[in-house]
Amino acid sequence: MDQQLKKTVHDNMASYIDRLSSLVRIPSISFDNFDQKYVLDSAEAVKKMFEEAGLKNIQFLTPESGRHTVYGESLTSPDKPTILLYAHHDVQPPMREHLWNTKPFEATLSADGERLYGRGTADDKAGIITHLAALELVRASKKDQGPNLKFIIEGEEESGSAGFAQILKEHAALLKCDAVIVADLGNFARGTPSITTTLRGMSAVSVELKATKAPLHSGSWSGPIPDVGQVLCRIIANLTDGKGNILIPHFEDGLVPPTAEELASYKSLGMTEEIFRNDGGVLSETKLLVPEDEILLANWRRPSITVTAMEVGNRKNAGNVLQDSAYARIGIRLAPGMDADRCTDLLVDFIKQQVPFGITCEITTEDGANPFVTDTSHPFFKLMSESMATAYESPTKFIGCGASIPGAELFRNTFGNIPILLTGLEDPECNAHGENESLYLPDFERGILAEALFFEGLS
Ligand SMILES: [Zn+2]
Repeated sequence: MDQQLKKTVHDNMASYIDRLSSLVRIPSISFDNFDQKYVLDSAEAVKKMFEEAGLKNIQFLTPESGRHTVYGESLTSPDKPTILLYAHHDVQPPMREHLWNTKPFEATLSADGERLYGRGTADDKAGIITHLAALELVRASKKDQGPNLKFIIEGEEESGSAGFAQILKEHAALLKCDAVIVADLGNFARGTPSITTTLRGMSAVSVELKATKAPLHSGSWSGPIPDVGQVLCRIIANLTDGKGNILIPHFEDGLVPPTAEELASYKSLGMTEEIFRNDGGVLSETKLLVPEDEILLANWRRPSITVTAMEVGNRKNAGNVLQDSAYARIGIRLAPGMDADRCTDLLVDFIKQQVPFGITCEITTEDGANPFVTDTSHPFFKLMSESMATAYESPTKFIGCGASIPGAELFRNTFGNIPILLTGLEDPECNAHGENESLYLPDFERGILAEALFFEGLS
């Protein structure tokens, strides 16, 4: 490895942490019920960092919501490959503030100096600094011989990326590239460099059943009239076999099974039931739905259905009442190969067919996201995998992810079948989206070095 480069990254760490901390200080929560001034402030702060890094053609790409995505570029030569670098500058709300051990919007080092606490440290402000640091490093060592780099830092990823498709469509020529690095995922474990090659998709429906005009005295009226609470529970119970296997006909049509290579890679990760239970806080009495060797498959490569909310009357006013309505929001996670719109339609039809006794059933759907699967045969995957292995001094793992990033599929739809490299600095302890979010600094350093080595490899 390039020892000088390694030393430079190490020597610059204080400056990288400083810059990251200045972004963490801005509470750029992109949810509508929070003050959107801060999202604009963080867009300005990113723009300023772009200017300081010498990027050109800096501009805001602004969707209908008004939350700016920040663009900038550092072009070298038309003969060199062009890499589009994605991260996002908005964050999740702090959630339950009293559970934070430090101030959520004040980046704070842990006592051992290994983790940096604060909202957005891992998800995803570290991604912004990683891209900028790698740019500075490759320009310092390779001058104009490095790849062309285009930066796209989104402003509303956490609130659903509603305007991102529009941005990609309107600016497809500006953003044109040979590959994308999406630095918004993470490593399988601390010190284990990982490239995510599959994501699950998602969708959700809300169901409301109604049988009477108003709630009734259960003593005076129950018996002849169907109870909507029980009816809704039966409908939900019919969706799976009780072990999570979905019973909706044709729901899994098109499912792409993992390749032998992927299975081997999953196996090499050494996931055990103990680690999984521990990371997820599963109660000791609770049994898992699958055996140990199927945990990752069930999470990454199979669909699942989750009741995310349910309401029949409410706990505070629970009395002897025959309720007039019952509500549930049902979320689905889709495995690679499945289609979000098709599966949502199948779910809606299946629920409607189950409704008995002429009960009124209203179903509303939400915009879904398709699953994502990438072909890793492109040489860029090999180069990234080698760069990460060198930086981390540990073999790179190809992993899956049970969650969804709509952007990955949007990049695919915009640019066709180019390599989309999903990297990032989350780890199982980082608690992204929860309280006490943190970034593991040794991997922050290795991640920057890996991306710089990747750019050098393209030079
Ligand atoms: Zn993120």
